Amino acid sequence: MINCKTMGKSFDIGLERLTGTGVPAIDAIQEGGVPVGNDAQGKKPPLQDGFATIRASTEQKNRTLKPEGCGTQAAEGATFYLETFGCQMNDHDSEKVAGVLLGRGYQQVETPEAAKVILYNTCSIREKAAQKVFSRLGELRPAEERSGEWRVTSGELGAEAREAQARVSFGSQGKPVLQKNAQPGMAVPREANHPSLRKIVNAAGGKIIGVLGCVAQQEGEEIFERAPWVSLVCGSASYRKLPQLIAELEAGNRRVTGLDTDTDETFETEITRRDNPWRAYLTIIEGCDKACSYCVVPFTRGPERSRASASILEEVRRLAESGYSEVQLLGQTVNSYADPSMRKMRFSELLAAVAEVSGIRRVRFTTSHPRDFGKDIVEVIEAHPNICDHVHLPVQSGSTTVLRAMARTYSREEYLEKIALMKAARRPISITTDMIVGFPGETEKDFEETLALLDEVQYDSVFAFKYSPRPNTPSLKMADAIPEEEKGRRLAILMDRQREIQRAQNEKLVGETFEVLVDGKSRRDNQWSGHTSSNRVMNFTSPERELLGDYVQVKVVSAMPNSLVGEMVGRA
Ligand code: SAM
Ligand code: SF4
Repeated sequence: MINCKTMGKSFDIGLERLTGTGVPAIDAIQEGGVPVGNDAQGKKPPLQDGFATIRASTEQKNRTLKPEGCGTQAAEGATFYLETFGCQMNDHDSEKVAGVLLGRGYQQVETPEAAKVILYNTCSIREKAAQKVFSRLGELRPAEERSGEWRVTSGELGAEAREAQARVSFGSQGKPVLQKNAQPGMAVPREANHPSLRKIVNAAGGKIIGVLGCVAQQEGEEIFERAPWVSLVCGSASYRKLPQLIAELEAGNRRVTGLDTDTDETFETEITRRDNPWRAYLTIIEGCDKACSYCVVPFTRGPERSRASASILEEVRRLAESGYSEVQLLGQTVNSYADPSMRKMRFSELLAAVAEVSGIRRVRFTTSHPRDFGKDIVEVIEAHPNICDHVHLPVQSGSTTVLRAMARTYSREEYLEKIALMKAARRPISITTDMIVGFPGETEKDFEETLALLDEVQYDSVFAFKYSPRPNTPSLKMADAIPEEEKGRRLAILMDRQREIQRAQNEKLVGETFEVLVDGKSRRDNQWSGHTSSNRVMNFTSPERELLGDYVQVKVVSAMPNSLVGEMVGRA
């Protein structure tokens, strides 16, 4: 049962498991991917040939508790389409956004065509990612505008737009003139540019189109200029306002924004609709107070704000009770967590407390910032076998000169001290990282130092990106930009080098046996896939008929740069 009194403050509800009941639907085929790192817009797990990821079907996603009597409800038959770009934090934000809408009585649909509300949760970390959103919005451009004129229709106009329709007409120059006799069906020259007209055009489509997340925060109301058919712009720092913004749209308001970053609140919802039946994401810290000179996150996600430890632990307990066995704590700098409650738990203490929740078999956390990574985190991993033996510790560059220009707050040597802490741990810890190549001023020597760092650390995986100049960031004005072609050359060299490191690392594991959480099934008989505690992808054979969601023991028989191949030898 949902306790309405707690809305927006805690998760004090009977959180229904939306997925994982029965055999989950397989609806996303993974394709062979770039073996190490990529320059795509976000981090996604490595891809495997011929396997399928497990996601909730739309039907399963929609099977949620509706918070009876909690605020307004959507009209009968209201539907939404939600597409997410970017990182795991965006994925998880979308799970919460979906929860907000499902709680209001909306049903999720698979295509924008079938939806009443179309939402894009966007990423602006690199330029390519931001561009993608505008190309999606272009696809939604109303036919009237594409054909060079807008047509006033009576469609499903809200009260405000109806009033505007009665007041707008157009003079001989095509300029809007306020009159009382505008009629539905009236053709409107495309260059007509009047706020009331825009409201009519938006309403005429009959759909609510919204841009959420980092592009929304970065571009703000400019989005309305570039795509007047958009009616909602809400940045990730303002998600707590989302229910209110949606209510305003439902009431007929045609343009609403949530662009505030001045907040100390985190985005908590009464329902989170989770996509993965076994692994639950939990944001424990939002925003970022670091000021890396290339990065838009502090502008788009606002200041760092942590969630109270008691609220986090309560949610973990509820997740365990509803069958989730793996939790992943999320934050742009997850280990900078600062408990705002009287308990003042350190990040490592919180990790231990999460690991001690009954039923939790795996605890992951990402992304750690090297500055706040200390011995206490390694010790807590050593002390709790269910804290996964994997740390993602982005370095960005192997050159102290470039790290300084990036304002990363550590030198190459200081970073290597953190690596040494992990290498000295009592059980092997898998280490992965992010790298940027072609930062302004990066010399061939700096780049060589980055390659040498790969050799020294022997990472298990690297996400490598070409530097992308971003608005408002200090590095935008830095001298000595590296040409695109040269960035591409460096990226290719780095990826080749790392691919060989991974191949060698993985080959050392042949003959060993690992616990695997099974999360994929091939179309071929007897072929399964899953993840080890170190987050390696394991493709394996087993004659068993049903393994999804199970923990099994798999012996490695061969290795590739991006995955292991094994055979099941028992249950875990
Ligand atoms: N907070 C994390 C950290 O400090 O490492 C990283 C978060 S960011 C969303 C993910 C990665 O995107 C970064 O580690 C960095 O490698 C990459 N990135 C961020 N800004 C970039 C830019 N302007 N150009 C290229 N890559 C960028
Ligand atoms: Fe961006 Fe740096 Fe913050 Fe990471 S730590 S989100 S790279 S500003």
